[in-house]
Amino acid sequence: QTHLTIFLKAKEMEGEGKKIIHLEVGEPDFAPPKSVEKSLLEVYNKGFGKYGPAKGLPEFTKSVANFCNENFHSTINSNNVLIVPGARFGVFLSISTLLNPGDEVIIIEPAWPAYRQCAINAGVKVRSIKTTLENNWEPNIEQIQGMINSNTKMIVLNYPNNPTGKILPKKLQDDIVEIARKNDLYILSDEIYSEYSFSNWESILSYGYKKSIVTQSFSKSYAMTGYRIGYVIADQVLIDKMASLQALAITNVSEPIQYVALQALNADISNNKKMVKSKIDLLVEKAKELGLQFVKPDGAMYIFAKIKDDFDSTQFVFDLLDDGVALAPGEGFGDYKNFVRITAIQDEKRLIEGLSLIKKRLDE
Ligand code: PMP
Repeated sequence: QTHLTIFLKAKEMEGEGKKIIHLEVGEPDFAPPKSVEKSLLEVYNKGFGKYGPAKGLPEFTKSVANFCNENFHSTINSNNVLIVPGARFGVFLSISTLLNPGDEVIIIEPAWPAYRQCAINAGVKVRSIKTTLENNWEPNIEQIQGMINSNTKMIVLNYPNNPTGKILPKKLQDDIVEIARKNDLYILSDEIYSEYSFSNWESILSYGYKKSIVTQSFSKSYAMTGYRIGYVIADQVLIDKMASLQALAITNVSEPIQYVALQALNADISNNKKMVKSKIDLLVEKAKELGLQFVKPDGAMYIFAKIKDDFDSTQFVFDLLDDGVALAPGEGFGDYKNFVRITAIQDEKRLIEGLSLIKKRLDE
């Protein structure tokens, strides 16, 4: 069971008139930048609305490249950019085009479920590194090294992490990049929570490693989940491969939405970061009061909390749905049956109400 199963079930219950506090999905509860409203209104008359290049509008890919160079210490140009309908599709394209059946991918768990699902869909074998709360969610370098064989082709990174909020210490990240270089592995780095980094974070782009692929999105940082737009950064040869599959599947990303995202790209979103930080701080404080065990997140939008040892959190999540609160069960992120992921991105009052319902159920 994953957060999506619970989300769909919660929606069904809402359809039947039940009130649900959504603490299971990672969706900003604030609005996109004001420029989005303006550009949505003007895009019709601007004439954007035709078929276009599979890689994206040239002015958009250029702006994205400049944006990355300014914000992520990269040295890329528009040939390194592929505009995609959300980071999820970017992850799908990377895994589907760069890996072949029989290849192996290393995934550090707990992890967003789509990495594993995309690998399985492509006939790729998943090797998981299980990290623990006790070890501060840090993967062990020897363990990664020990897992690499001649079939290993890629390692997936996602920092700030969904669900733990972890950001790797610089040295550990350097070591992982070094291992990837030595073993000629792709690094797929999903950096969609980079805007919500509350301690030092460094993009994989800053290493200038030729086999790195970075996925980014407007979903979380710009609160544009439903617009379905993001981008992939990689070496031009890799981008061209991914663009071919994208052309095959969808021709190109909606031109009006590209235009809108282009206008949003340089908007001041610093207030979003402040809001997310204060919501996380509130969640951390309240979750501590409940006696949940977790590592204080360095970023992203969640806490990943252990309820207690030998506990079936999936059953707990279903029981809580009846009480009117939706949580993401730990098992969706790997072998974490006694954990739940709680999102901080909710209205303050509802977040507090949700947590008190969790407490009530725990006390029973
Ligand atoms: N990567 C991670 C780690 C996510 O948590 C999510 C969304 N929950 C995505 C990618 C998908 O983002 P998008 O909306 O851009 O497809």
